[in-house]
Amino acid sequence: MAEPTSPRLIIISGPSGAGKSTVTRRLLSDCDLPLRLSVSATTRAPRPGERDGTEYHFLSQQRFRELRDQDAFLECKEVFGKGHWYGTLRSEVADGLAAGNWIILEIDVQGAIEVMEHLETDPISLFIHPGGMDELERRLRDRGTETEAAIQSRLETAAGEMRFVHRYQYEIINGSVDAAVAQVCQILRDHQEKHTCS
Ligand code: 5GP
Repeated sequence: MAEPTSPRLIIISGPSGAGKSTVTRRLLSDCDLPLRLSVSATTRAPRPGERDGTEYHFLSQQRFRELRDQDAFLECKEVFGKGHWYGTLRSEVADGLAAGNWIILEIDVQGAIEVMEHLETDPISLFIHPGGMDELERRLRDRGTETEAAIQSRLETAAGEMRFVHRYQYEIINGSVDAAVAQVCQILRDHQEKHTCS
């Protein structure tokens, strides 16, 4: 009889605008594995429709600092240099793994590298990008939510982040969301088979 698999940690990362949160949401609903998202903490304000505890734990700067001082974060970073902090709570990861889930960290590249360097066990790491800087620029412009200066700053950051692609186990080109989700789900299933004794 098949043994249960060991719980796994999955890092989904890549430049902003690559569609990693869309791919993550679709994985959670469509992939037939016990996946759970680690809900990060952030000091940024909720966007319309975002709920505290669902998309993020929305914290004040002071509360975030307190948690950081208590070593409550597996990693935390100031993302985009806008003064907004984001962090992975150790409790989110530990509770999810203890419940037998596979935990997804959908985090930026700096945070991903930190987790990969400091964890004792290897996470499954996936770098998602749109295939090239031109395509990334097109997507950021299509969003229509950013000023020209913000687009330029995100593109600069993305160019730097692309240099870390080789640190990840898998490179996923997100040309179509359906195809990217199917590819990632298949990668995770392959890992499950590798770690299942029969
Ligand atoms: P947004 O504000 O658009 O939701 O996210 C901005 C960026 O922060 C995204 O690249 C997202 O992946 C990243 N991010 C979200 N949560 C975390 C986290 O816990 N740690 C790190 N390092 N980055 C995060």
